[in-house]
Amino acid sequence: MRRIVVMSGKGGTGKTTITAALSHCAGTEAVIADCDVDASNLHLLLRPDVGKEERFMGGWLPMFDSRSCTLCGMCADACAWSAIILRNGQYEVDPGLCEGCGVCAHVCPDGYITMTPRVTGMLFASRSRFRQSMYHARLGIGQENSGKLVAKVASEAMAAAERERKEFLLIDGPPGIGCPAIAALTAATEVLIVTEATHSALHDLCRLIELIAQLSLPAACIINKADLDRETANDIHRLCAERCIPVLAAFPWSEDFPESLRQGRTLLELCNPQWQERIGTIWNHISTGVLT
Ligand code: SF4
Ligand code: SF4
Repeated sequence: MRRIVVMSGKGGTGKTTITAALSHCAGTEAVIADCDVDASNLHLLLRPDVGKEERFMGGWLPMFDSRSCTLCGMCADACAWSAIILRNGQYEVDPGLCEGCGVCAHVCPDGYITMTPRVTGMLFASRSRFRQSMYHARLGIGQENSGKLVAKVASEAMAAAERERKEFLLIDGPPGIGCPAIAALTAATEVLIVTEATHSALHDLCRLIELIAQLSLPAACIINKADLDRETANDIHRLCAERCIPVLAAFPWSEDFPESLRQGRTLLELCNPQWQERIGTIWNHISTGVLT
């Protein structure tokens, strides 16, 4: 099974809009995963029916044995995030400040603090309106550890693709090159990069290409908004040529990207017939193995 992760480095390049359009092209040949859990919005375009949802325990929270606590204050003093507060004569934790590090439980001389699993997000197993199994998630407000949730979404989607004997797993990856991006890339057999012709996108693209090279993954690239800065677009072409990354397409800036999100429809469903051909050509390249 081929596992294609769509990555961007910089956010806002049109990655999710293109992933949704490719998902539309792939149809029932693919299982879909949205691993951009910090700002998931693939579901806005694929509008899936949620079949199953489960809580994701991705962190820890201290529980105080208030009846036994001697109010010595050692836990509050040790907490680097000032997350332990004295209220109404009892110590308690502010979940918004707590990082789940466990130092308070470690320093409590009598073991009156127990670290307990904490719900940090929700995981959904759904069916997209293109009749595909789709896995996606929602990270709780202010929650971290999204790399763990990304890995969970990817592994659930991979298991489904194997179960259903699908040829493709198409993953909308997170932006950046940090823990969530690495977690998504570890599920990949190949990478499709969606970048744009801006200085910040080029900067992030260089870092993303280094990361992809470290993982020895084959990649191809789409340049979106290529007419924003033609010099930078040429730099991206040059960089891709140096790194043997084929550029599958260079699209001019188009109102259709925000319009697609606004209408909750893929590019292929908009009035502009150019997208059928553009995205269809890219999917043909991908499905016939240009990335591998
Ligand atoms: S787990 Fe860490 S961050 Fe949370 S209250 Fe304890 S010491 Fe503070
Ligand atoms: S360190 Fe333990 S005993 Fe001391 S205030 Fe904290 S919970 Fe209570």
